[in-house]
Amino acid sequence: MSIILKDKIFEIYLSAEKIRVRNTELGKAISRDFVGKELVVIGILNGSFVFMADLCRQIDLPISTSFIKVSSYSGTESTGNVRSILGLEEKIEGKNVLIVEDIVDTGISMDYLLKALSEFNPAKISIVTLLHKPDAFQFNYALDYVGFEIPNKFVVGYGLDYDGLGRNLPDIYQLSTP
Ligand code: 5GP
Repeated sequence: MSIILKDKIFEIYLSAEKIRVRNTELGKAISRDFVGKELVVIGILNGSFVFMADLCRQIDLPISTSFIKVSSYSGTESTGNVRSILGLEEKIEGKNVLIVEDIVDTGISMDYLLKALSEFNPAKISIVTLLHKPDAFQFNYALDYVGFEIPNKFVVGYGLDYDGLGRNLPDIYQLSTP
């Protein structure tokens, strides 16, 4: 099955059912690993909002949940982007934090997040990402829970967008390369 978003054709890649099954497995693994511990689950907006909602309901522990956003803007100096975290209301000092991402591609965004959240002195930071592109990954920090390793091709749906569109698609689609 294919869909068209703006000027691009996308082919079905991961069905909603496959994602549902994998979310159950991830939820079980997380529940097992954090049993008896205090866990703060932090979703990274915008892309993780669908995954976060589904994954949280598969974690069978008394977790607290929160969303943050990484803002990216050009600094006054010509050295590049200055970033900051928006919306961190939860106190994470001394707590176990689980970052929930939709996709880790080059890993640059996650690298920034790990460093920025570390400054609040959490007990431990773990990462769960639904999708991971190992061929594009430029770092060697551990991704604790990975839903699916995927090829280095653009994907859309289940929270991921193409130019603002497609986040509401229940399945994940891959850019078609004719
Ligand atoms: P990074 O390269 O820093 O790991 O990923 C940065 C961000 O780029 C991700 O959080 C995600 O928002 C976006 N991104 C990376 N690969 C894809 C992709 O295949 N599809 C979509 N829709 N966004 C992507």
